[in-house]
Amino acid sequence: MPALSPQIAPYSRSGHPVPSSATLRLCVNDSSLSRLDLLRFLERAQEREVERQRGIRTRPPTPEWLIELGLNRHAAPVYVHVGECWNAGKRSRGISRDQARRAPADGVKACPQCQPDRALGMLD
Ligand SMILES: [Zn+2]
Repeated sequence: MPALSPQIAPYSRSGHPVPSSATLRLCVNDSSLSRLDLLRFLERAQEREVERQRGIRTRPPTPEWLIELGLNRHAAPVYVHVGECWNAGKRSRGISRDQARRAPADGVKACPQCQPDRALGMLD
């Protein structure tokens, strides 16, 4: 079999390196695929990968602490939770560690399920 000299540029238009020439050679042997088709396919695959990674980066992180607000905006917050507490209500929003530490002074109770006071080191 004659060696295939790849005429394909090592970089796609978006500037990301394409898979190794070994991968390309495998695909090019399939005569039903033109090189142009192949290039377009690889480019689409890369764009999807870039989109996926961008999605991971921009996803907001889980807040470390949560405060569960009262039933209406005039009611005081009811509980402080750790970020992943399964018991945190829908009215919870993320707060900083400092805010979580100050919450008991404002009369906000620590959630009995996730015990954020323990996580905050206020019991020792
Ligand atoms: Zn909780």
